[in-house]
Amino acid sequence: MSKTDPQQRVEQLRALITRYNQEYYELDEPSVPDAEYDRLFRQLQQLENDNPELQSPYSPTQKVGSRPVSAFQPVAHEMPMLSLDNAFEQSEFEAFATRLRERLDTASAVAFCCEPKLDGAAVSLLYENGQLVQAATRGDGQTGEGITANARTIRNVPLQLQGDYPQRVEVRGEVFMPVQAFDDYNAKALARGEKTFANPRNAAAGSLRQLDSRVTAQRPLHFYAYSMGVVSDDVELANSHYQRLHQLQQWGLPISAEVKLVNDAQGCVDYYQDIMQRRAELRYEIDGIVLKVDAIKQQQDLGFVSRAPRWAIAWKFPAQEEMTVINGVDFQV
Ligand code: NAD
Repeated sequence: MSKTDPQQRVEQLRALITRYNQEYYELDEPSVPDAEYDRLFRQLQQLENDNPELQSPYSPTQKVGSRPVSAFQPVAHEMPMLSLDNAFEQSEFEAFATRLRERLDTASAVAFCCEPKLDGAAVSLLYENGQLVQAATRGDGQTGEGITANARTIRNVPLQLQGDYPQRVEVRGEVFMPVQAFDDYNAKALARGEKTFANPRNAAAGSLRQLDSRVTAQRPLHFYAYSMGVVSDDVELANSHYQRLHQLQQWGLPISAEVKLVNDAQGCVDYYQDIMQRRAELRYEIDGIVLKVDAIKQQQDLGFVSRAPRWAIAWKFPAQEEMTVINGVDFQV
């Protein structure tokens, strides 16, 4: 291999991944399966790790999502909306768990909050005095797209919080289309000769990012909260992520019934196997699980890297067979 090869490959991969990001995040029309995208992304990460002189803050490996589309009002996130690091194998999850304990400098077991990785679109919902005043997509992590009118049409997004809620709270979660609703929607669209969606994820992201909220209102979207962003200090928050999710639930926000607290890394492995077995029975599509260090103090000690928190990881499931064919092209993934 000549000396210029890694550089050429890095440039090639960056251009390809940037194009795929646009197709996926801006147009809601991916041209390659996620597993193929993930394979190229990892290749780029590996090349950048092996050749530090080729690293760049402009590389897609350092960025989140894609730029927000200008047709929407830009919304600056008060706290960045990040992505998640991925594990594809048990050994990668275990390496993550070992790294955590080394960083935390603890010999004790670390408790995790285990959650399904909902396959939809991330949203931020801002409540002031209990009322939903703003909703935004993740965008590039710093600036999202204002989709307040659209979010208001989602049936299980509360317009008014209940109970002892903070004066100002930003709720983060996933908007998705349940599998049955997605199948029904596509069957009807097909009968009417309209465009169908490639998968529930694209259906959710495409429906959420409509310029006319009456269109969004007709789409069977659903929301589950999975974290808090900025919160005013007038209400005491739990010091456990799991308990914070239940605080959100008390304020009227829906959370997944599959959220579980485990005492150690082995608990995460058991959770992975349990959810993996029941994957087909779930009402919504998931592409893996998300494992988050439960103690907020430990989360704060671990902090963030450029595009992801150090205290969480997405452990992805193997690609599903039918996802390997897109636009008639068969991908070897
Ligand atoms: P990601 O989907 O791997 O992880 C981050 C996202 O997970 C969050 O933004 C959130 O929306 C979601 N999420 C779901 N459940 C969650 C939970 N319980 N807690 C926290 N977050 C949760 O990362 P990403 O940056 O959104 O996207 C990267 C992935 O998207 C790639 O790995 C690939 O699978 C796919 N992608 C595919 C293409 C393509 O062309 N096919 C292009 C770009 C991205």
